Amino acid sequence: EQDGPEAKEIANYLPYFPFKGIPRFYDIGGFLANPEIFQKIVDIFSTRYGDIGIDAVAGLDARGFILGPPIALALKKPFIMMRKEGKMPNTIKSSEYDTEYGKRSGLTVQKDRIKEGDRVLIIDDLVATGGTLSSAIQLVKACGGTVVECACVVELKMFIDPPAESGLPSRTKLFND
Ligand code: IMP
Repeated sequence: EQDGPEAKEIANYLPYFPFKGIPRFYDIGGFLANPEIFQKIVDIFSTRYGDIGIDAVAGLDARGFILGPPIALALKKPFIMMRKEGKMPNTIKSSEYDTEYGKRSGLTVQKDRIKEGDRVLIIDDLVATGGTLSSAIQLVKACGGTVVECACVVELKMFIDPPAESGLPSRTKLFND
């Protein structure tokens, strides 16, 4: 349903939030308020990942915690929290990373949640520059796991491969690096 008629219901946008300089904030409150669309999103993801050998679903703080658990339950796999620093005991941390909103100090995951050789699916609501997902990928690898795929509901296309003069970070370059 990419860019289809339901796109606005899934994530409507408003300008200059959370601060001036951000042209558009996409608000996924739309699909959470609509059980039919929410269910459809969960079904699309659980169908896609149902038979490609996932061992665990990792969700990113904070909206990956809303979307990840119903997908993990549908796949009958464990759900793993990847949280901002200082929220959970006994964790390992990724290095500092850049996002659409600026620098972040690192994502954390509890030790032993991801085991050597685990095939992990990473879920978040939205990908912008890809900095947050890159940090999550780094954590899965540091634990000895493999990232099967990263999946989000909204993709901000302006960060895929922006012209150099725009000054925007390139997601393609970040993922290639
Ligand atoms: P990135 O690291 O630059 O790709 O930013 C993605 C992260 O920031 C995700 O965890 C999103 O939840 C959050 N984020 C960035 N832009 C938006 C937005 O427009 N709406 C909602 N969340 C956003």
